[in-house]
Amino acid sequence: MSGSKEVVAVVGMGAAGLRAAMLLHEAGYQVELFEGRHRLGGRLHTVDEGEGCLFEAGGEWIDGDHHRVLNLLASMGLEPLPAPVWPKTVIYQGKATNEAELWTDAFEDDLRIESMAKEMTSELATPGWKSKTCLEWDNTPLDRFLAENTRSMRGNWWLTAKNRSDEGDDLEKIGLLGWLCGFRMYLDRDGDVMSAYRFPQGASAFCEMMLNSTGKEVQFGWCLERVNQAGSQIELVFDKGLVKVDRLVLAIPPRAVERVIFEPPLPPSNRCSLEACEMSPAIKIAWHFEESWWLEKNWGGSMLCDLPFQQTWSSGLKEGSSQASGVNPAPLLTTYICGQAARDYAALGDPVRAALYDLAKVHPEASQTFKRGWCFDWVKDSFAGGAFSHLAPGYVLQHQEHISSQFGRVHFAGEHTSEWVGFIEGALESAERVFSEVQQSELN
Ligand SMILES: Cc1cc2nc3c(=O)[nH]c(=O)nc-3n(C[C@H](O)[C@H](O)[C@H](O)COP(=O)(O)OP(=O)(O)OC[C@H]3O[C@@H](n4cnc5c(N)ncnc54)[C@H](O)[C@@H]3O)c2cc1C
Repeated sequence: MSGSKEVVAVVGMGAAGLRAAMLLHEAGYQVELFEGRHRLGGRLHTVDEGEGCLFEAGGEWIDGDHHRVLNLLASMGLEPLPAPVWPKTVIYQGKATNEAELWTDAFEDDLRIESMAKEMTSELATPGWKSKTCLEWDNTPLDRFLAENTRSMRGNWWLTAKNRSDEGDDLEKIGLLGWLCGFRMYLDRDGDVMSAYRFPQGASAFCEMMLNSTGKEVQFGWCLERVNQAGSQIELVFDKGLVKVDRLVLAIPPRAVERVIFEPPLPPSNRCSLEACEMSPAIKIAWHFEESWWLEKNWGGSMLCDLPFQQTWSSGLKEGSSQASGVNPAPLLTTYICGQAARDYAALGDPVRAALYDLAKVHPEASQTFKRGWCFDWVKDSFAGGAFSHLAPGYVLQHQEHISSQFGRVHFAGEHTSEWVGFIEGALESAERVFSEVQQSELN
């Protein structure tokens, strides 16, 4: 390792910032770490409410083809937790089935959309924003595409519900081209590897391990307000003081970057891309029950439905050093709600009980055995400004290229700057990119 490497500040200790810090530290850079909150992880946040109530308030699932996350876990000697094998219940207009026995009309629509999407992806360039001939797709909202290409109302609802859950917002807010770029990432999938795993002991423990591998301390409660670039140094103004470094890796979400003052100012292309980058309004509500009543109904707890709360799953994680020896998880269900419905619940005085009331319409046991619950509204969280980014109509061709553009000695990381937009995998991908940018810039 060379002692003459640059001093790099990493601001934002979510998955992206932590991974960037690891890579830079391993390569011999002197890293200085800052975080506005008083905890690690950002949108990875494992909550422990006692009585075995351990659950994820933010990012939770790892898809089987999220190789960066899986490899990093493996390098830490951690086994990802396989998802439960119960098929998801599907409820539409009072009729119930499950994912494995989907209604024929919905299944046919699903297959048709999948095969259309596969064919359309062959016209995309890499990266997606180079697909200049796909302007019409970029301007088409996904809901319109589905309305025009599904044949049954049930099929249209099914595809809408599934995709809203993945995108985190209502489908008029999602551009067809951006959706196709995401779809393309899954083309090599072997079988159903969506939501295949969770973090053993929770995502926060994973973040702690990332930090520990750097041996560095984080300055918590340091909120970046201003970046002054002049000459070969960069001056960072935090609410707690001023720091001078050689380079900055800025791993904070778009709404948070927008609040930072840059001198000289950010070029218009960077600024516009940040403003156009939309964050999904998604909330999570966790309910703690006296017992796992759903298991007695021979149901695993996972559901996609046309009720206002949209989706549920069983969310308890085991406490302790291993899944085999840890404290048994408490009976917990999570409901994950996206789009306008999320805003509507969050605006209510007591979203936990409001959603429980809706759940009890289909499962009366829910209100009979309810103990307590918690709501996590990521839109109101000023450090996040939403759950995760998505590609709005018109965004890919006009803006996506610029969101990750290096600006002098400032390098932008975070899931919103990646190809795996919205995912933990994307946060790690962005860390790899900024790491090579820093190395390259030092050589130049
Ligand atoms: C409800 C929910 C469910 C999700 N589900 C999944 C899932 O199942 N699978 C999946 O892969 N992904 C999921 N995600 C997305 C995933 O959590 C994120 O993509 C990922 O964690 C983002 O990491 P990041 O490092 O880019 O940003 P963040 O985690 O947001 O990290 C940014 C950090 O910067 C800090 N910060 C902000 N402003 C400042 C400032 N001015 N100064 C200093 N620090 C600042 C923040 O406090 C934060 O710690 C979900 C997210 C949510 C919210």
